[in-house]
Amino acid sequence: MSYADKVLTCRDCGMEFVFTAGEQEFYAQKGFTNEPSRCPSCRQQRKSSGGGGGRSSYGGGGGGGGGYGRRESSGNREMYTAVCASCGREAQVPFVPRGDKPVYCADCFRQQRQSSSRW
Ligand SMILES: [Zn+2]
Ligand SMILES: [Zn+2]
Repeated sequence: MSYADKVLTCRDCGMEFVFTAGEQEFYAQKGFTNEPSRCPSCRQQRKSSGGGGGRSSYGGGGGGGGGYGRRESSGNREMYTAVCASCGREAQVPFVPRGDKPVYCADCFRQQRQSSSRW
């Protein structure tokens, strides 16, 4: 199959341009069945201007970012001061110390646990 140069008219600018035999062959190889409807320069322009793809411009919107999420209860726990039942030092405990239960400082509490875990 042989190709011959063809003169086509550009759809955009109305100029005549040559659809060469080589181009026709190229098109055929690519599987294009239709001839180019635009001259090379118009094709270039469309390419470089990023043709296709309608870009919708977004208006303002968004914006109102509310305050930060506040964490109150999960932050620092309130500590209460008590007297250690074991060593008599001041102990900080995360609960309200009551008289019916012995309160231990961190050290003694650990010791208590260690010794009780042996059982
Ligand atoms: Zn053109
Ligand atoms: Zn203690």
